Amino acid sequence: MYVPPKASYREVLNDAVQKGYAVGQFNLNGLEYLQAIVEVAEEERSPVILGVSVSSTKYFGLDYLVALANAAKLKAGVPIILHLDHGPDFDFIMKAIRAGFDSVMYDGSEHPLEENIAVTRQVVEAAHAAGVSVEGEIGRIGGTEDEVSVDEREAMLARVDEAERFAEETKIDAIAPAVGTAHGLYKGRPQIAFDRLEAIHKRTGKPIVLHGGSGVPDEDIRQAIALGVGKINVNTESQAEFTRVVRKVLAEKPDVFDSRKYLGPAREAIKEVIRKKIRLFGSHHRF
Ligand SMILES: [Zn+2]
Repeated sequence: MYVPPKASYREVLNDAVQKGYAVGQFNLNGLEYLQAIVEVAEEERSPVILGVSVSSTKYFGLDYLVALANAAKLKAGVPIILHLDHGPDFDFIMKAIRAGFDSVMYDGSEHPLEENIAVTRQVVEAAHAAGVSVEGEIGRIGGTEDEVSVDEREAMLARVDEAERFAEETKIDAIAPAVGTAHGLYKGRPQIAFDRLEAIHKRTGKPIVLHGGSGVPDEDIRQAIALGVGKINVNTESQAEFTRVVRKVLAEKPDVFDSRKYLGPAREAIKEVIRKKIRLFGSHHRF
């Protein structure tokens, strides 16, 4: 069974960029996360994107994830979009589309540009035929554990001319260029290449997706949105808060064995992390 969202990934991101806000992608790391994300989205009247990593599809199973998202979509009055994050290859992405995902990311950033373009274009053709939106990646978005020099960091950033060609030849719906953010926890303040971000948005005309949004200072987020970012991925901050609360409850009440007694407070706590992001991104009161 496929339950369509109230608005597609493409529609929501284009609306965001046009009106100067960004949509949050929050990861579906289990039922408690889904309930927290959807409850806040409803309370704030905000569209949300449910991010699913490949490792999560292996942990939960595609069928369970789609069924969970369907339940949320049927219940919610705002767009709830089920999105595959960092899809590794054409075949895996097709499996996700057939299972019922609304949008997919193909991450061909580790391949040479020609190959990234060729595979991304192939993904876009098949996905669009099924009404599914596609996010592409260019440049290399690092992990914060990577120890990189300034020169190496510069080499990882997306190039404006390449991004322009990439967007034009692939017909993607949104572009995730490496602009200095990284996945995971930051050691220092991330150095976002705002000029490059702005140039890529202007030259491609596509909504920009900012990966590694956890821990980016609020003013940098606002500036990025003003320059063309329409979607921001947040996962680490929710996970850190969830786990902090579980640890706290178990430390304070060592006799607890009912899982709802520690998962429930964690679910409540991440609602506030998500709400803060939604308000910072300006996606509240949109639906
Ligand atoms: Zn990412």
